Amino acid sequence: MAAIFSDSPTHPLDALKDHFTLHDHQLHAITKTFLSEVSDGLSKYGHPMAMIPTYVKGVPNGSETGTFLALDLGGTNLRVCEVTLHGDKTFSIRQQKYKVSEALKTGEATTLFDYLADSVDAFLTVSPKAESPKIDGFRHTSFNDSDPPAVPLALTFSFPVEQTALDSGFLLTWTKGFSAKNAVGKDVVKLLQDAFDRKHIHVKCVALVNDTVGALLSRAYNTGGCMLGAIFGTGTNGAYVESVSNITKLGKHPTAAAGGMMIVNTEWGGFNNSRSVLPTTPWDNKLDRESINPRFQAFEKFISGMYLGEIARNVVLSFIDAAPKPLLFTGRSTPILNKQWAFDTAVLSEVEEAWTGLGRFSGSSEKDQRQRVRGVLLQRFEFESDDLVSLEDAATVRQICTLVVDRAARMSACAVAAILVQTGRARLGGEGKGELVDSGERIGVGVDGSLVEFYPNFQKKMRDSIRVLVGSEVESRVEIGMAKDGSGAGAALCALIAQKMSEGASL
Ligand code: BGC
Ligand code: MG
Repeated sequence: MAAIFSDSPTHPLDALKDHFTLHDHQLHAITKTFLSEVSDGLSKYGHPMAMIPTYVKGVPNGSETGTFLALDLGGTNLRVCEVTLHGDKTFSIRQQKYKVSEALKTGEATTLFDYLADSVDAFLTVSPKAESPKIDGFRHTSFNDSDPPAVPLALTFSFPVEQTALDSGFLLTWTKGFSAKNAVGKDVVKLLQDAFDRKHIHVKCVALVNDTVGALLSRAYNTGGCMLGAIFGTGTNGAYVESVSNITKLGKHPTAAAGGMMIVNTEWGGFNNSRSVLPTTPWDNKLDRESINPRFQAFEKFISGMYLGEIARNVVLSFIDAAPKPLLFTGRSTPILNKQWAFDTAVLSEVEEAWTGLGRFSGSSEKDQRQRVRGVLLQRFEFESDDLVSLEDAATVRQICTLVVDRAARMSACAVAAILVQTGRARLGGEGKGELVDSGERIGVGVDGSLVEFYPNFQKKMRDSIRVLVGSEVESRVEIGMAKDGSGAGAALCALIAQKMSEGASL
């Protein structure tokens, strides 16, 4: 820590840069270790990077049709959607968002699942007539012959769930600030179904899908093919198409005997919890120590939206507190700056937009840039007086934010590159020389999440490091695109897969 204070001979920002910069050799080391954790996770259960078999054994090609109901519990929002797949690579979606309060996130699981069930009920009953869900359009499933048919629903559940089938799986751990009691170890489909049944809501949960799997499926549907779905949002994770023969922990499971391919949910947020290769800083350590899951989700804490704002806030505070001379805001803070988790990546995105002059901003002199960032800081940090933020402060905060996000983008690239290598599409080159293993193929990657969607140039930063790891030839064939409404459309596609499988089709 000493090196950041102003009596040090090094400029404080240079010292900070040393803390946050990831050199190319470190990227290689991280990617290598990532690959060995991939193997560990594929060969045994209980590894922190869980490498979860999803039992989804095919990817769509855009010709699929049907109308399905999906419930999406992510990190920030709860959505209920009605998705119609048109069969021509397009779909339409009608949706309603609901808030998930802190009390629901941290209370009893049954209360949370009751709320999920109520939200579905509200969506099905309160919708205006003209737009009401075409229940007749749904493919109905029956509990038994005497029951009227129930509406099938797919659950997108964006937490680590060890799946036992397409429609069951137990929660391994909560992430992203959730800690609802009496859920870990339980079958989340059953928790939801019990809530529907308690309330006599005639809906049957037929499929369970992680948001990364949803992203992969929906991107495949939209573009005709995709090998990796990745989320860079409140949390981070990826799912990819693996050969069943590599998922050795499936043992004698009938699915293993059938061979073929299967989507695996990596849960890469839990990569390298020991932090043996993830270079940490005092500000990261503080974040981890004060989080509700210290020493877990190590990788996620360097990358995802929920954490980047907090890391930046920690650095800003240490600059404010620097002795003998403060390095920011003449040593003054504000109540919101003092508040843990007060900022997510939105503020980092705004700072960067203001700096780069995107969107509503114009003018490009360095002074304009500083002035715009200063405006963002005055507003977001809620300073009482304009005098407390100088143009130099603005430039310093922008630098801090960039360092935090650049590191996240470089680490994200390690995960993507590792999957390219794992699936035989690239070889990790020494000193940045990636080697082409197969040729010509476009490599489809579907992404979603606030960081990749809203932070200016996040994707470009990530690609730069992918190139370092696997070479420009492979990198240039990687087609990264937003998986639009992945959690909704992907869930619908999964419900369709469930339906086909229950009708005996093999995928
Ligand atoms: C969860 C993953 C999820 C990711 C992105 C992580 O915290 O463990 O299951 O895919 O966030 O939402
Ligand atoms: Mg989501």
